[in-house]
Amino acid sequence: SDITSESQRPDYQQYLEDYHPHSEEFHQAVKEVYDDIADEYASRDEYREWNIIERLIEPDRIIKFRVSWEDDKGCIHVNRAWRVQFHNLLGAYKGGLRFHPTVNESVLKFLGFEQCFKNALTGLPMGGAKGGSDFNPKGKSQREIMRFCQALMRELYRHIGPDTDVPAGDINVSSTEIGYLFGEYLRLNNRWEGVLTGKTPGFGGSCGREEATGYGVIYFLREMLTAHDDSLDDKRILISGSGNVALHAAEKSLAEGAKVLSLSDSGGTLYFENGMTEQDLKNIKQLKLVKKDRLSNAETGSFKKGEKPWYISDADIALPCATQNELDDHDAETLLGNDIRILCEGANMPLTDGARKQFINANALYGPAKAANAGGVAVSGLERSQNAELTTWPVERVDEELNRIMKEIHERCIQYVEKKDGIYPYSRGANIYGFKKLAGAMIAHGV
Ligand code: GLU
Repeated sequence: SDITSESQRPDYQQYLEDYHPHSEEFHQAVKEVYDDIADEYASRDEYREWNIIERLIEPDRIIKFRVSWEDDKGCIHVNRAWRVQFHNLLGAYKGGLRFHPTVNESVLKFLGFEQCFKNALTGLPMGGAKGGSDFNPKGKSQREIMRFCQALMRELYRHIGPDTDVPAGDINVSSTEIGYLFGEYLRLNNRWEGVLTGKTPGFGGSCGREEATGYGVIYFLREMLTAHDDSLDDKRILISGSGNVALHAAEKSLAEGAKVLSLSDSGGTLYFENGMTEQDLKNIKQLKLVKKDRLSNAETGSFKKGEKPWYISDADIALPCATQNELDDHDAETLLGNDIRILCEGANMPLTDGARKQFINANALYGPAKAANAGGVAVSGLERSQNAELTTWPVERVDEELNRIMKEIHERCIQYVEKKDGIYPYSRGANIYGFKKLAGAMIAHGV
């Protein structure tokens, strides 16, 4: 037939090419959602009438600014920083700040877009945003990191507020950096208010926030397994990454009776044939989170230089907890070839488009990041509540709430989908739920 590819193009594609060129990661994240919501979208004239797709993929605003800071030797450096305020349909803009040389506008748009869906899934009143800088903290002194955070806040403070936009941490932004950022906000604004989350407990932070993303991944995984008459007992788990998410996912895996076979960093994989012990994990936490050293210097496990964990064949579950697109088409083939058919995403968009398709086509048990790693931002939401109430909750209460929220997220993921050959399509379910929620708010709020 003579149907031109032009008229067959999905609605979003031309728009992205015209208005968001050179934004590969962003295109990838939008495509992933569109693939799942296309039928739902096409079936309701209302969505087309209200031009939901273009309004969904165009952020409310992107703030880009220069950060000038002075190193210990007195040299002046310039970095670029951004805050992508994506949508505040469901609440104030909310999402982390990432410091990494790979940060650019495309990466932050993809992360901000994902955050809108993730935050919708938590059920808490939070919009979506993301920010950060191409600043590389590796090799910088503590004072240099502090001065960089202060310089960044000197611009960012005018764009944020406890009811406007509430940033938090992400890669390379932990409670230490949040402390420096918060301190500068206090000096500039002279008001103690919950403008950032991920603060240190005792100085306005919530108990359990640091652990929340990693623990939440395992709570979500546990729900997935239960819904398929399975459990974490004695499961052999491959984890990639060795940052906040990976290490706390490992900790909760051990507590739930599973075995953790690996962790990784950009240098390679640390492998434990029979699973790591609690003492092993304690040592690695000290090495990575306190000393900020490399896994190759670990005194336990066997280090495989330059390897990813996915080559390890004798496992049941894969948890990519490092960064975007870390697990590529070839890795997916390796995992599925080894009959590893359970995967849950700790990092944001850790699978390439091809890898994701392989897992979905194989009808594997696949937990998407926007659901599985929402525990972090969920406890950020709880931190906001505590700040607003001028109180702090005990860790038991936070953990109970986190458990409840992850259970509810699991329910929302299966609300609009059915099992196919015995398996829930979680990724599709999460995208449909988020889309319906955001589209509903857009229609309700008018143009
Ligand atoms: N950066 C985290 C995420 O990807 C947490 C964001 C937050 O707590 O606001 O969800």
